[in-house]
Amino acid sequence: MNAPDQGMRMHWLRERGQHEVFCGLTGIMWLHRKMQDAFFLIVGSRTCAHLMQSAAGVMIFAEPRFATAIIEERDLAGLADAHEELDRVATALIERRPDIGLLFLVGSCPSEVIKLDLSRAAQRLDQRFAKRLRVLAYSGSGIETSFTQGEDACLAALVPQMPQAKPSDPPNLLVVGTLADVVEDQMRRHFKALGIVRVDFFPGRRGMDLAAIGPQTRVLLAQPFLGETLRLLQARAAKHVPASFPLGVEGSLAWYEAAAQAFDIPKAHQQSVLLPLADRARLAMQKHRQTLRGKKVFFFPDSQLEPALARFLYQEMEMQLTEVGTPYLHAAIMQAELDALPADICMSEGQDVDRQLDRCIAAAVDLAVCGLGLANPLEAKGISTKWSIELVFTPIQGFEQSADLAALFSRPLQRRERLS
Ligand code: SF4
Repeated sequence: MNAPDQGMRMHWLRERGQHEVFCGLTGIMWLHRKMQDAFFLIVGSRTCAHLMQSAAGVMIFAEPRFATAIIEERDLAGLADAHEELDRVATALIERRPDIGLLFLVGSCPSEVIKLDLSRAAQRLDQRFAKRLRVLAYSGSGIETSFTQGEDACLAALVPQMPQAKPSDPPNLLVVGTLADVVEDQMRRHFKALGIVRVDFFPGRRGMDLAAIGPQTRVLLAQPFLGETLRLLQARAAKHVPASFPLGVEGSLAWYEAAAQAFDIPKAHQQSVLLPLADRARLAMQKHRQTLRGKKVFFFPDSQLEPALARFLYQEMEMQLTEVGTPYLHAAIMQAELDALPADICMSEGQDVDRQLDRCIAAAVDLAVCGLGLANPLEAKGISTKWSIELVFTPIQGFEQSADLAALFSRPLQRRERLS
């Protein structure tokens, strides 16, 4: 971690203990819903297939545009056999599914899979099916990725496919991070009203509809867990627009304003577009503030969204922050969020589940934001919980979703009040 100024003033704990998070395969759940012509072929074990089934069960909107090619010991008479097996499965899939325009081979943890060179397999299949579709590879392995890092790995695999912008191309805005279509449409309307006309979303609705990028590209992150993708875009000369994340009214306002400033939109015009949206959203959030005000919240490290969500709950819902955990802090990406947090809170980076559980229970918090595995023990101790994964696959970004975001936190508290 490269701690920023505000981060330096905060009390930081570095945890390096037992982890309790999903692996990067989980990202397939929201990525496949966004890229409607993409198929994710997990090269993995029965454990990976089970994980995807249970994750799909949680996410009720999921459609099956992913599958697991199970590479187990019986396939390993030699690596050549495993490659042959993978080619056979992928070929059968491509022939059966003409709707696939982009196939991802997604790596996992079993040692048999790690020995397979999936990039090479993807190149081989890409050449063979060049006229029909594109084939790329990335890793969703639990050894290398936590659940939101799978999206980062997937988008990072797409960056080299983005065409180079011509020097004569006008400036363009690239919004990076998977967003629900309804949110993307709202944002397009607001950017247009602001006067930013060349806007691309990455990923888009079709996987290979990729914006041209170059020095005139301004990158605005819609999700905070995309450090590697950002690094690769910057290596292609695109410029990062540092900003808060579009969570809640203040976050959304700051996010749109940062984009508007990068495109030299006059302040008066920014305000004429954004302030009515902010006013309406503030009104819609009021009733949730009544439930949340003064209540204590604890964040377990899970999604990397935690500092931004903590800022929202503190700044806009007037909650008390006890501890804000994040699996990894990318300081350059999180700077604006850290600046808006109180300097006296405890932040933790990394995970040590037992110690964090002890601290959460000792703090007698009202609400804990945590992974699925921790929810039951915490509820049994009388602490309401919010599954952090819900905050990744529910549309929560932008002014229009601010009240829905607040409701995700107020509902568990109201439920517990009714029960007691
Ligand atoms: Fe488990 Fe690894 Fe497969 Fe994820 S990729 S389900 S951590 S074996």
